Amino acid sequence: GDKQDEKFLRHYYLNGEATLEASLAKAGVKPEDITDMVLTHMHFDHCGGSVKYTADKSGFELAFPNATYWASRQQYQWATHPNRREKASFLKENILPIEESGHLKLIEEEGEYIPGIEFKLYSGHTDGQVIPHIHVNGKTVVFMADLMPSAAHIPMPWIMAYDTRPLITLQDRERFYKEALENNYILFFEHDLYHEAAVLEDTPKGARVKEAGKLEKFL
Ligand SMILES: [Zn+2]
Repeated sequence: GDKQDEKFLRHYYLNGEATLEASLAKAGVKPEDITDMVLTHMHFDHCGGSVKYTADKSGFELAFPNATYWASRQQYQWATHPNRREKASFLKENILPIEESGHLKLIEEEGEYIPGIEFKLYSGHTDGQVIPHIHVNGKTVVFMADLMPSAAHIPMPWIMAYDTRPLITLQDRERFYKEALENNYILFFEHDLYHEAAVLEDTPKGARVKEAGKLEKFL
């Protein structure tokens, strides 16, 4: 988002001149057109763009004024009563304005909350991370968020030091790989600088990338 100071953005905003709004405009979509916004979780790098300064910078407003903002109740609890490890990742200016707007919708279990989009829950990285499974053209695209930030994280023991419960992450992955291999999921990575998407194959060493590339190529 645009709410942090220069030092913060220098560390974390590595997108050059690119902004969410500009990328949407390129796709012919205006912020007001967005109907649903899924917050996989509330670490600032996954939800900061949801809320922006008002024009005079005296307060905050939704970046997508007509959207329903989806998150899990487990994550909301976790984010608003943070443990000391994650505390610096949960910024109240990213979360409270959404709640105050009345646009926040909290789910408690997995399900198809938006037609064609199923939400599944994983808790190794942070409690109640929502992983959207998007059904399109008879295929399933999975928005990986921090369940698996990049293709490099696919070999089983490669888990992030930041995960709050690494042993749960391993269980999350076992479940995810089984489903992904059975259903030929297309994995879409949020944090991978080199690979936008990938499909998996089973090998004697476990799940590995079969093919990686632009999302369009798999659809
Ligand atoms: Zn995260």
